[in-house]
Amino acid sequence: MTEHITKQTKTAKLVGVKGMNDILPPDSAQWEWLEERVRSLMARYAYRPVRLPIVEPTALFVRGLGEVTDIVEKEMYSFEDRLNGEQLTLRPEGTAGLVRAVVEHNLLYEGGRRLYYMGPMFRHERPQRGRYRQFHQIGAEVLGFGGPEVDAELILLASDLWQQLGLRDVRLELNSLGQPEERKAHRAALIAHFEQHADLLDEDARRRLHSNPLRILDTKNPAMAPVVESAPQLLDFLGEASLAHFTAVRDILEANGIAYRINPRLVRGMDYYNLTVFEFITESLGAQGTICGGGRYDYLVEQVGGKPAPAVGWALGVERVLELVKEQGEALAAPVPDVYAIIPDAAALPQAVRTLQMLRAAGLTAQMHAGSGDGMGSMKSQFKKADASGAAHALVFGADELARGEVSIKCLRDGQGAQRSERLDQLAQWALSLQSN
Ligand code: ATP
Ligand code: MG
Repeated sequence: MTEHITKQTKTAKLVGVKGMNDILPPDSAQWEWLEERVRSLMARYAYRPVRLPIVEPTALFVRGLGEVTDIVEKEMYSFEDRLNGEQLTLRPEGTAGLVRAVVEHNLLYEGGRRLYYMGPMFRHERPQRGRYRQFHQIGAEVLGFGGPEVDAELILLASDLWQQLGLRDVRLELNSLGQPEERKAHRAALIAHFEQHADLLDEDARRRLHSNPLRILDTKNPAMAPVVESAPQLLDFLGEASLAHFTAVRDILEANGIAYRINPRLVRGMDYYNLTVFEFITESLGAQGTICGGGRYDYLVEQVGGKPAPAVGWALGVERVLELVKEQGEALAAPVPDVYAIIPDAAALPQAVRTLQMLRAAGLTAQMHAGSGDGMGSMKSQFKKADASGAAHALVFGADELARGEVSIKCLRDGQGAQRSERLDQLAQWALSLQSN
């Protein structure tokens, strides 16, 4: 019996975890393209990269994001490390870990920091279009500066990115959550409102009514829309300082031609936010239309055990942004090699490989034909592969030509297959002429 099971499990096809995707060619080229654009844009705004662990202590997220949030209540991959009993969690978002690192390494000692990260996040949600269990975020965070100008800078940075990616129809929604003191009065009004309409609340909302009523505003349940629409608005509870901060952000955005809509019900999903919150939303992706969200979180550094310091940031969902790029952005050309090396006889391999190395050093992309293990294959099949590779030129390393110190170059894309010989010692020159075209 056991033997039988072992045999079966050995041969059964293993598949990946549900909701966790492999990113393969040709899509993976799009990912790199996006990452490169982000890196160069971040550098232009003087943001510096950080690379942080994927696993953090569970307590960091419980404390940081808030106990009564979707993420902490239902979405975290938490587990005990069997080897030492530590309670750990696969990070569901990047901000808490970044703040933990900033505090741990005292990064604010000499002043504020502008940082960014990219990487996988994990949430146990129901997989669907634009919603996965392993997904990827790119995040930008500014710590140590409390003024509205950095809120605006982050929004400008994101808008700049949409432009770089060729995205249209991305709208910005803006709100202010004020300060904890202001939220207290709003909270009481909110509870009174929802109590009055208790019959309209779903189970989540009823449970959160007294523990975290603000979260009810972030519901995804369309049946609750009317009772959320009519709820008291936080903006009406803001004091002078909070309103001034909000106005200053808006003034900078307006002066820079950034259109936005104020959405008084925008609260975001985590407890750590205060003052400015925002989301970038598109109508082109169906229900999962929020491609980027962020805001100020002036109390998180202190909550994680650091000396109090203001902070603000955003995170975008890479899968959603790339889907939008596919729909709206410039079409990305699939990468193709400049040359494909055809090697009629294995005896020519040492010389052919040396030549390819020289061409790569000169900046060309070169793909070598590889055999199946018993020789290089027929010329016909090699030319077929050369064609399929999309290469502009085939280099044919025939024995006779090599003996003369030459290689034959066949143009694969002029429709005529023009072929000529070139001296090996002139090939670097030829490579240069290709690149200057
Ligand atoms: P949503 O309301 O769609 O659940 P969220 O408010 O939970 O999003 P955030 O925590 O603000 O999302 O994360 C920032 C961005 O990360 C989102 O705007 C979205 O683009 C992306 N994102 C969040 N969760 C997922 C997921 N499960 N799969 C893919 N992308 C996601
Ligand atoms: Mg969510």
